Amino acid sequence: MDKSKRAAVIAGNWKMNKTPSETTALINEMKPLVAGADCKVILCVPYIDVFAALDAAKGSNIEIGVENVHWAESGAFTGEVSAKMLTEVGVPYVIIGHSERRQYFGETDETVNKRVRAALDAGLKVILCVGERLEQREQGVTDEVVRMQTKIALQGVTSEELKNIIIAYEPVWAIGTGKTATPEQANEVNHVIRVLISELYSKADADAFTVQYGGSMNAKNCDELLAQPDVDGGLIGGASLKAQDFSIIVKAASK
Ligand code: PEP
Repeated sequence: MDKSKRAAVIAGNWKMNKTPSETTALINEMKPLVAGADCKVILCVPYIDVFAALDAAKGSNIEIGVENVHWAESGAFTGEVSAKMLTEVGVPYVIIGHSERRQYFGETDETVNKRVRAALDAGLKVILCVGERLEQREQGVTDEVVRMQTKIALQGVTSEELKNIIIAYEPVWAIGTGKTATPEQANEVNHVIRVLISELYSKADADAFTVQYGGSMNAKNCDELLAQPDVDGGLIGGASLKAQDFSIIVKAASK
């Protein structure tokens, strides 16, 4: 992390976990543990938990997000939620392009771009996920895959709008598997993303841009990962469901 240049951000991705009452209990447990953190703290929760989360987080340094958004303003899209619906209830953040959406729900680079555009147009802040699958790493095309995903996701995004985007580099083989990228691997790909941002926008934009690492980051390995110069925080799945573990990661990012 280089906090002199850019914001450090620790975000939780709860995936399909926690009911509304469990949401209230977990956020109440987390609040005192992460109070005064010297990094941004975001929890992305299932849609149904949003009201409980916003209520529980009120007055604290925890910000709330959700895990997906549709690109249309309204219409015949059964089961979907629009950006306007989210902004009206006061949700500031949304994860877009998580590998589980790409893997199980047909998300493509093009639909990721449409969702990013819709989110930005409505005033949401985006945590954009990119990352290679295991076979792509083994084929030696990690950089190409991540560059392509990022470039397509950012089509039509201006330098001003880029300020409302964070990228989370999440190697698919490291998500929920207990296999973490080494700190060097994480830093290497985060750097590739920063170089691309510099090519697409400017060096100043790239220097100020937050690139997280995600993939089995936990209370034990967070120090090493966050010590890397191009790792500006983490997107945390499993460990964000445990107040103590999550707060250890927040404290590591606050150093
Ligand atoms: C995630 O869901 O984005 C994630 C990184 O999960 P985990 O930390 O459980 O690997």
